[in-house]
Amino acid sequence: MNVCVIGTGYVGLVAGACLAESGNDVVCVDIDEAKIEKLRQGVIPIYEPGLPELVERNSRDERLTFTTDMEAAVKKSFILFIAVGTPTTPSGAADLTYVFSVAKDIGRYMDRYKLIVTKSTVPVGTAERVRDLIALETKQPFDVVSNPEFLKQGAAVEDFMKPDRVVVGADDVRAGEILRELYGPFVRTGSPVLMMDIRTAEMVKYAANAFLASRISFMNELANLAEEVGADIEMIRKGLASDGRIGPAFLFAGLGFGGSCFPKDTRALIQTGSENNYRMRILEAVETVNLDQVDRFVGKIRRHFGKDLKGKRIAVWGLSFKPRTNDMRDAPAIRVIETLLAEGASVAAYDPEAMEDARTIFGDRIQYASNNYGCLEGANALAVVTEWQVFRNPNFERMKSSMQQPIVFDGRNIFDPAHMRQLGFTYYSIGRK
Ligand code: NAD
Repeated sequence: MNVCVIGTGYVGLVAGACLAESGNDVVCVDIDEAKIEKLRQGVIPIYEPGLPELVERNSRDERLTFTTDMEAAVKKSFILFIAVGTPTTPSGAADLTYVFSVAKDIGRYMDRYKLIVTKSTVPVGTAERVRDLIALETKQPFDVVSNPEFLKQGAAVEDFMKPDRVVVGADDVRAGEILRELYGPFVRTGSPVLMMDIRTAEMVKYAANAFLASRISFMNELANLAEEVGADIEMIRKGLASDGRIGPAFLFAGLGFGGSCFPKDTRALIQTGSENNYRMRILEAVETVNLDQVDRFVGKIRRHFGKDLKGKRIAVWGLSFKPRTNDMRDAPAIRVIETLLAEGASVAAYDPEAMEDARTIFGDRIQYASNNYGCLEGANALAVVTEWQVFRNPNFERMKSSMQQPIVFDGRNIFDPAHMRQLGFTYYSIGRK
């Protein structure tokens, strides 16, 4: 099929490359000329395991192309995916400016029947507004279906290639069946393609993210109580995870959730509730607990050193919002570092993939190390913020000899408290003695 993916970000680029990999002719469109130029030269603008190989192979075989020419891309394609960003407005609602602008462009340029797919995460009712905007621009026939994306950054290619499920919201049966056909190669092992009405499909995506965010805040709240009563959140987690009704995913206590999805989607669902006279009380608490988690962490550092952090040098391991991505959108590291700086500390940081992105946020207000030991030179303490695999088994002796004081604040519980004590570290973690 001829497919156009509009918005070549984390979702659009992965979707485009994977759809090309299953034999479709895919054109990826973006308004960011520099990004498209890079992609044409084979430079992948994001860190996502497995993606460079896919883009390279499918570009070489001319199944995957990149353009800023929306008109030509729309005319050429049968299925048009909208995969642009839906950030948060100051009120907490999803900002649909980009989605609506694309809808108008599609309407303006289409010259025959098109199937338009909203893949961006959008509030209930958006597909209907997209349909209305397109109809204002064209007399051509078209359908709009909702197909929210569930991929995880860091495992995005694998998730797209082998989805747990594909959700399709369609009011027109034939339109839905076209998407079922498109996804056929990805669900051969039996993952369901769940057909539903458009509004329900739009809500499923928010429900999934809000539920996962709730699990994280729930565990963080338990971890905070465990600290007060002298219990161990890691053993509590194991006790919960082995219960088949609960399962092991998203039960790790830590610095809370960040990234471009959980915070914004939780907020957007709260906002949808308030627009519809329903207060999402659980999600309000999920958000509050999440924001508190960073404050509690920095509070531990402050309490250890006394009144404030003036003149203290803090090393930070991990900047991206989670391992295996360079994405720093809404990363807990931003609030941790900004608070440390505001309290007078100096910060030296290291991340395996997010250093370039970090520079655009912090500029020269922090120092950047070339490896995880580099930022420990002369540090009064280390704060572990993102649990990259390479941080888990470090050379502890080397760490100790680099640091001014062997103090570790572990925001992700990657080390064993007893082992750290044995090694001579003063060790703080989340929800453990
Ligand atoms: P992103 O910011 O990485 O990419 C969005 C892209 O759209 C950018 O490259 C931008 O230049 C482009 N764009 C903006 N306006 C455009 C226009 N008028 N025409 C063409 N291109 C335009 O965003 P993302 O992380 O890929 O997220 C996209 C959507 O998918 C969001 O709604 C998000 O909530 C949802 N989503 C994201 C993830 C994720 O893990 N990142 C997972 C599932 C769903």
